[in-house]
Amino acid sequence: MCDLEQPIDSVTLPEGLAWEDDWFAVGTVDADTLAIGEPAYHQKNWSYLITDGGESLLFDTGSGRRSIGPVVHRHAGVSTRAFPSHMHFDHLGGVDAFGPVIVADLPMLRAMAPDNVLTPTEEAYLGHYETLSPPSFPVGHWVGIGDVLQVGLRHLHVLHTPGHSPDSVSLWEPGRNRLYAADFLYRGHLYAQTPGASLPAYRATLETLFDILPEDIDILGAHGQTEGGTDDMPRLGHADLAALHAALCDLLTGPPHDGQREINPRMTLLYSKASFTG
Ligand SMILES: [Zn+2]
Repeated sequence: MCDLEQPIDSVTLPEGLAWEDDWFAVGTVDADTLAIGEPAYHQKNWSYLITDGGESLLFDTGSGRRSIGPVVHRHAGVSTRAFPSHMHFDHLGGVDAFGPVIVADLPMLRAMAPDNVLTPTEEAYLGHYETLSPPSFPVGHWVGIGDVLQVGLRHLHVLHTPGHSPDSVSLWEPGRNRLYAADFLYRGHLYAQTPGASLPAYRATLETLFDILPEDIDILGAHGQTEGGTDDMPRLGHADLAALHAALCDLLTGPPHDGQREINPRMTLLYSKASFTG
């Protein structure tokens, strides 16, 4: 396994990002939206703090290598609600810093939460990648797929976006023409080789998104991996969705196999034989 962390003085932040402390970097998406990054972590996670009118929502709680709680509390207060995009370990790391969290109302997640305390299964959490044990956390609100989460006057539509994982959700904010795509789409190696990943599901989700999203959609992903590049927040667009869709259509005409394919200079899809089904 590669080193999980690198010294922050070896990390180059582009213009527009600033160090918050000795681990987190922050960037302004707009006046009410803060991107919180972990560029010294090998997966280069980005979480998003969405605020309005004294209310706030944190979409993903970071890797847990350091607690994201203090950063969020400094910028948005202690009443911030947390909403993990899916149960992989690197999106749940700081969940303990928040009260009862918002969880997508999917049968597989309900099954992990007897008495409304959710403990992800290893297949959903994948903690063995970094020798981590899953947290248990209280669920405060089961939000339905297709429901709208309100943060002040902002409206965030909860979309089920399986492909990378069966429990993945994204947030679509028509008012700001933005998709918070989490691990469905980000910069770097797109993981579709992990348990639960499905290339047919990836393709079907993309086709659903094409019906919903405008051509000039602004997409923010949850990882910003670059090869030797700077550590900017991962912003992608409709062309990236289209390029991924074309690659999936091509791959799915052939036999199942393990491999990887460069989608474009921003993304490479990793996949396994098992991910050709499901
Ligand atoms: Zn993931």
